This record gives sequence, C-alpha cells and structure tokens, in this order.
Amino acid sequence: MKLTLWTYEGPPHVGAMRVATAMEGLHYVLHAPQGDTYADLLFTMIERRGARPPVTYTTFQARDLGADTAGLFKDTVRAAHDRFQPQAMIVGASCTAELIQDDPGGLAETLGLDCPVIPLDLPSYSRKENFGADETFLQIVRHLARPQARTEQVTCNLLGATALGFRHRDDVTEVTRALAAMGIKVNVCAPLNATPADIARMPAAHFNVLLYPETGESAARWLEKTHAQPWTKTIPIGVGATRDFLVEVAALTGLSPRIPEDGLRAPWWSASVDSTYLTGKRVFIFADATHAMAAARIAAEEIGFEVVGLGCFNREFARPMRALAARMGLTALITDDYLEVEAAIAAAGPEMILGTQMERHIGKRLGIPCAVISSPVHVQDFPARYAPQMGFEGANVIFDTWVHPLVMGLEEHLLTMFREDPEFHDAAGASHHGAKAVAPVEASGALPPNPRDISASVKDEVQHWTPEAERELKKIPFFVRPKARRNTEAYAATKGVTAITVETLYEAKAHYAR
Ligand code: SF4
Repeated sequence: MKLTLWTYEGPPHVGAMRVATAMEGLHYVLHAPQGDTYADLLFTMIERRGARPPVTYTTFQARDLGADTAGLFKDTVRAAHDRFQPQAMIVGASCTAELIQDDPGGLAETLGLDCPVIPLDLPSYSRKENFGADETFLQIVRHLARPQARTEQVTCNLLGATALGFRHRDDVTEVTRALAAMGIKVNVCAPLNATPADIARMPAAHFNVLLYPETGESAARWLEKTHAQPWTKTIPIGVGATRDFLVEVAALTGLSPRIPEDGLRAPWWSASVDSTYLTGKRVFIFADATHAMAAARIAAEEIGFEVVGLGCFNREFARPMRALAARMGLTALITDDYLEVEAAIAAAGPEMILGTQMERHIGKRLGIPCAVISSPVHVQDFPARYAPQMGFEGANVIFDTWVHPLVMGLEEHLLTMFREDPEFHDAAGASHHGAKAVAPVEASGALPPNPRDISASVKDEVQHWTPEAERELKKIPFFVRPKARRNTEAYAATKGVTAITVETLYEAKAHYAR
C-alpha cells in the first residue's frame, strides 16, 4: 500500500484509451466496474473532444460478481462490434477486472468476429498510463502492420502522438511541415488520426520519426526489427535539438538538411539585451523524461538558466535521465511521489520551476513561478491557438511561455530598490500574478530551522539570526534570499558560529564569492 493523494500518471488502461481515442475506426471494449467511465471526461472535457471516446465499458456491479461476468463481457463485445462496425477492436481489463481474471482476449476470440480483435495485457498494479499507451500501440502495430514495398518517394511515419498528449496536435503539424520542407512526406502518423488500415501500411515508409518515446518507442523498435525501418533518436524540442533532428533525418535519407529558419525568433529573443537578466536564473525541472531532458538543454544552452534540479516521474527513462543529470553536475530525481518533488524543490530554492500541473501547485505553495512543460496537464494546456513545443515555432512558444511567469527585469529592480514602497514591496509579488499576492514563505526568506544535532555527547547550540542580521538579509532581493540564507547558515555551521550576525552574513558572502 502507498498513501497517494496525487498521481502523475493514470492506470495503464487510460493509456490504452489514449491510443484508442487518438485513432479512427478502432473500438476498445474495457472490462471495468461501474464508475470507470469517469475517464471519458479526460477526453471530452480536458482535451475538449467533440465526441465520446470509442470505448465501451462492461460496467459490472457488485451483484454481477456472483453471476457470469465473462458472459457480460462477451455480450458487451458483440454489441459494441455490431453497433460501431469497427475496422479492428482492442479488448482489455481495468484494475478491478484484472482481479476477477476473466481473460478478455480469450473470451473475445471465441466470438469469431469478422474484424481483428487485439488483446491487451496491461498489469495495472505495476505499470502506469504511459506504459499502457506504449504497449497498446505496439500490440496494434504488431497485429496489423503488413510487409510491403517502400513508397517511391521518401516517406516516414510519425510515431507516438496520442489523445490527451501535451501539445501533440500542434507538434505533429510542426514536424510534418519541417519534413515537407526537406521533401519528405508523412506516410502514416499514428496513433493520432490513424485508422487500422493506415497501421497496416506503415511498413511502406522509409523510416520512422519517434516523436514521444514514452508512447511510441516499443512500436519503433518492433518496426525496426521486423520491417527494417530505422527511427530517429533526437526529439526536436528546442532550437539545437530541432537542428540536430533535421541533420539526423538527412543522414537517414541522404537528403540535404534544408532547414527553413525564417520564422525562428527564439535565439534572437534570448540574445537580446532584455534577456540578460535571465542569465543564471536557477531553474528546477521535473516532468516526463522526454520533456524534462529537452527542457534542460534549452534552459542551459539556449536561455542561459542554471539548472539546479532535474528529474522525471516515469522510471522507464531513469537511465538517460540520470546520465544527463550527471553531465550537468546533478543527481537526477526519479520519483512519482510529489511530496519528494516538493521537498527537493524547497531544498534547491530555485527562482523558477519547469514542470507539470503538480509542480504548478508546488510552485504556488512555495511562491515560486512555474511554467508547464509536460503532462499531466489541465484544460488550459490544451489551447485553442497553435502552440507546439517541437520545431522552430515550438522554440518560439517555449521562450514566451518560460519567460512569462518571471518578474520582468525593470520590476525586479524596483522591487529591490524600493522595498518600503506601497506597490513594489516584497510581499506584493509580480504585477501579473494578482494584486493580492501574499508574501510566500520563500519570499520572506523564512525557511524551517535546521534540525538540531543531538547525536554528539556535547549538544550543539541552536543556530539563530540576530535581529540586525535578519534586517540585513531582507535587503537581499527576495528571489535570491533563500539561497543567501542557506549559504550563510552552512558557512556559520562550518565555523561553529551559532549566532549569525551581520558580519557572518558578509563573511559568508565573501566566502562564496571566492
Ligand atoms: S478499476 Fe482502477 S481505474 Fe477503475 S475505479 Fe477501480 S482503481 Fe480506479
């Protein structure tokens, strides 16, 4: 058992639903208790889809458990098949149905339906949503893709875009445009907008573009093994990564990397003098591995932030994440426990968080600005406007999104210079964060005191700040104050100083400036 309030990912059958809902002409029969239809709302409300997901639930109740739940499942599959006439079906169980072990695949097979029926085996108690999507897509591709000759023109498939994916809709458009500029046509984009018939013709493409490893890597590997299709390893999020991606595509195809950069503004925006104050801003990044790793590169190489924390909630990608963090001199945080993430953020004292909807809440509690870079996300991150993350337009979008939550340069100066001003005082917060912003714990610099060391034979004295030193500390701008406080306390501890005075503060400052 694990006490859980927030989860970064849903159960694996939600991943299967994301694949089914992304596709056309495919139907999913889910053996699940009454009430599991809540998942429909993810698609109709958060993603604002105009149609119900193509999912039929058996919705068994307590009284059904004493009767024939297997019969109920078979009746449901037959009825769904007759009503929706899909090109193919997928069948599986939710967490509760997994416990009653009705074997959806075997039962559906006995029905002798006239369309392919693909069984899903999703272990709900050990795996999660992304695994569910990745595995479902793999099974669909394995069952439906047919050997065939390559297209005459150079084509590729786009793999991994799903329903309920963070900016998948616009990423697909952006990457399709970039490939078109190189003379490459998309053969099939899947699962998003693909039919089972489209899946069957995937092996006609010359290579695969893996957009999201979380939801498409298993299919990419299988297609490589079975149909000799190479796949791209670079995720084109950020200017550098997009350029690398196009070079990788050029190497795979022998085409020249014609890279249209006319609409690309992000590099000049971050080079312009108004972005100087962004240099060295301490940023904490926590998201799904793909977006977190892309964000780390953009933050460090393209905007000039200092990455002070990096991690992901999907442990499937722990290895590349750890390697990247190590290259940046950090230890990767791999956890799906948001309390651990919150503690790590509080300890690092960043000036900005790049994360998911969860980190937005953490940022709100700690008074730290946050921008969203990955799922899980809420309704506002399925915007009406064009808002990709990938490609050159994605880089423009990212620059705007990340800079927006920060206090602007001029305002930052005013907040520092006129601390007693009725408008520009510490507790007022940034002008665009609401006029009634209350001084957060971090802004006042008041972090919880360090625990006393009671292990030694002579008990240490509790460290404390003199009132003068506290006043002096307040002169430091609010966004760097927590770090100044921590450094001073650490310095004082090494010197055995328990009463921190103004002198200790300046000695610590000089010490760390060396
Ligand atoms: S079957 Fe799983 S997803 Fe459905 S209500 Fe039970 S625990 Fe939740």
